[in-house]
Amino acid sequence: MPDHTPAPPADAGPEALAAAIRVAHHGAAGERTALLHALEQRAETPESRTVLADTALLLLATLRAEDGSLDMVAADWLRRFGRPEHLDAVRALRPKLRPRTALRDWRLEVDRAIAMLQARAEGGCGCAVDAAHGAPPVSRDYERLSDTTDRERYAIIWQVRCRSCTRRWDVVEQHGYHYPTFAWSRADADG
Ligand SMILES: [Zn+2]
Repeated sequence: MPDHTPAPPADAGPEALAAAIRVAHHGAAGERTALLHALEQRAETPESRTVLADTALLLLATLRAEDGSLDMVAADWLRRFGRPEHLDAVRALRPKLRPRTALRDWRLEVDRAIAMLQARAEGGCGCAVDAAHGAPPVSRDYERLSDTTDRERYAIIWQVRCRSCTRRWDVVEQHGYHYPTFAWSRADADG
């Protein structure tokens, strides 16, 4: 017997996916993670990426108080899978999104998604957006070249290379606050 309810069929639309994600979110421990992982595996074609971004938009538009951190999932998917065509809808939703009690305002992730869609629309690279928004350099968009620990500053200094534009960045990861911060600067000699 499987541990988790199966993912919706591959041709399921945003409504079915959003409903399944909600069920998994409120389900047993690990169920949401397993379902999100299964769905993210489908992001190999432009069509399926659009369905995932449409699903994220639908979740954002229908957030309920009890959905908790589902808002972060939606912002994350919009940033990763969204297309320039999603920009207007996210921008229209942004003023309606409610804050939630947390150390860091989750809506900053929506702002980051908007900036990423904007960069995508202009043909710019996403690494500049991640740098401006202090994102963790953890995605497969980056190759980790080195890391050093600065014990006096309680910091880890990464050097990463953007896989799409090849720019190199130094990223200082600091843990002196309630949550880690990531400060990016260009590592290339030619700026
Ligand atoms: Zn780049």
